[in-house]
Amino acid sequence: MKFSFLLLLLLAMLSLRSQYVGPASGESENTRPKNIILLIGDGMGLSQMSAGLYDQQNPIALEYFPVVGFQKTFSSDNLVTDSAASGTAMACGKKTFNNAIGVDKNGKPCTSILEEAENHGLATGLVVTSSIVHATPAAFIAHQQSRNLYEQIAADFLSTEIDLFIGGGKQFFDRRESDDRDLVAELRKKNYAVYDYFNNDLTKIQPSTNKNFGFFTADNQPLPAIQGRDYLPYASEMAARFLEQRSNKGFFMMIEGSQIDWSCHANQAISLLGELRDFDKTIKKVLKFAIRNKETLVVVTADHETGGLAINPGSSQKKLDLKFTTNGHTATMVPVYAFGPGAELFRGIYDNTTIHEKLMTAFGFDQTSKEK
Ligand code: MG
Ligand code: ZN
Repeated sequence: MKFSFLLLLLLAMLSLRSQYVGPASGESENTRPKNIILLIGDGMGLSQMSAGLYDQQNPIALEYFPVVGFQKTFSSDNLVTDSAASGTAMACGKKTFNNAIGVDKNGKPCTSILEEAENHGLATGLVVTSSIVHATPAAFIAHQQSRNLYEQIAADFLSTEIDLFIGGGKQFFDRRESDDRDLVAELRKKNYAVYDYFNNDLTKIQPSTNKNFGFFTADNQPLPAIQGRDYLPYASEMAARFLEQRSNKGFFMMIEGSQIDWSCHANQAISLLGELRDFDKTIKKVLKFAIRNKETLVVVTADHETGGLAINPGSSQKKLDLKFTTNGHTATMVPVYAFGPGAELFRGIYDNTTIHEKLMTAFGFDQTSKEK
């Protein structure tokens, strides 16, 4: 299983390497991706990635990415960003204040890459291991002054035509405190097939590509990986196949390893390694899809580093001595990895807002239609 994956990757890289990352000859039509899958490891800085690497016997997925860059993560009001501001920067291309969801630093709504894709007739998706209304996914679909407005963020799902979402947070849709709306019922009226973890097994559902698809993995937050949560790799692959069928124009999907951040906030190394293994499996599934599909750009990055993690002296591969310097986020740059057509765009050191521009360029979208 492991061997066949490595062989597949090796063959794919040999045959596609020149096409994807050959001598810089400028972007031509055939280097443009039809689909983009953006994977965000929340809080996954270079030390987290290194810990994940030493923890594994086999190469980690990130080692197969031919293009690497770095992004600066600061927000408009703080050198140390939060996930709302950094998510908005990547989604919308605007520096904004910590807590802001899909609005610029003046509070004005900005169009996200997911909404741009939607407007261009592409299919779109969000797959996360937090609640689906949490800061990172919210930044791609909602427009609110505060990340804490979970019910308002949930209502913003009704303002888009997102084709697929998988994550926790059902209670913010169907048991709301701020109003009597039942957003699950409203979604169903809008041609969504909506399921939840309590009554359904995600692996047994064959989603109809004639309908949008929503799946709730928890009432609020899904379990940590070390407590048995394992849906992200499967859900991500399933989502890619679903979105591939949904529009012949292509798709945009954001996948988040949400709880890498939470393990680091809690300074829990064992939990962190569990989340990193889960995210690594997920990236491998996505790479496999991209190799088969051939028209998919895969970008993996983080929104910021969390915990000021260090791999201390005395560490061995069997026993890593992981130490944290804070319970919060840090301002260190985070790596960006790219694979597939358009990957070349992601070399260098740049602001997190540039991710939005690069995704727009890769899709061939007009950059001037940004204002919402
Ligand atoms: Mg997050
Ligand atoms: Zn955090």
